[in-house]
Amino acid sequence: MKKDLMYEGKAKRIYATEKPEEVVVEYKDSLTAFNALKKGSFDGKGALNLQITSLLFEHLAKNGVPTHLIKTLSATELLVKKVEIIPLEVVVRNVLAGSTAKKFGIEEGRVLDRPLVEFYYKDDALADPFLSDDQALMLGVVKESEIPQLKTMALKVNEIMGQVMGKAGLTLVDFKIEIGRLDGKLVLADEISPDCCRLWDKKTGEKMDKDRFRRDLGNVAETYQEVCKRLTEVLK
Ligand code: UDP
Repeated sequence: MKKDLMYEGKAKRIYATEKPEEVVVEYKDSLTAFNALKKGSFDGKGALNLQITSLLFEHLAKNGVPTHLIKTLSATELLVKKVEIIPLEVVVRNVLAGSTAKKFGIEEGRVLDRPLVEFYYKDDALADPFLSDDQALMLGVVKESEIPQLKTMALKVNEIMGQVMGKAGLTLVDFKIEIGRLDGKLVLADEISPDCCRLWDKKTGEKMDKDRFRRDLGNVAETYQEVCKRLTEVLK
């Protein structure tokens, strides 16, 4: 099924298959932060992120968000439709934390009146800078008609994910998604896992995501396992 390695990223490898329209995504155990300046890993991390992604993607698909997922092949491999990834990180925030809190000098934890959608330009060499809608158009990375579609999809994912995380005892603080083009339509691609979300425990306020690694808070593996366990209980 798996053929040549097409691409190796920080946390995943992409392989060609015998069908040009399908690829295999292999989840690695590596963990990186701050544009890969900080590196780590733990055994089983790839499998946990795969499980969390597949649970969430299946739930999102059932609720009207098209995704690239076809099926799970093994503990660390997903079969997905090959899409043309739009080189934008689409971030949605419900509570202010991380870069936007820092940028405006606002303390972490401010609950926003309405979800905030932001675009960042996916370019490691430039450290993924924030960009405006017009700057995205200037770069030619999106068509004008796609901008509202990206925002609508991001907000729909936010609404559905917020409910799921709530049932799992977690506040969905913010997250990043990637969206691809497939046959002229937009579909959710890449992954949704504690690597690309901020999740705070509703009871204790504890951080239950990659900030444990970024900020050296400890119990990284245990936290990813706990998130996976809670989501499995809620979604299976
Ligand atoms: N995020 C991501 N990949 C990136 C940048 C951000 O998955 O390259 C996620 C991050 O985990 C968080 C959200 O997007 O859930 C918002 O991140 P932010 O802009 O606050 O940046 P950070 O503080 O993580 O540098």
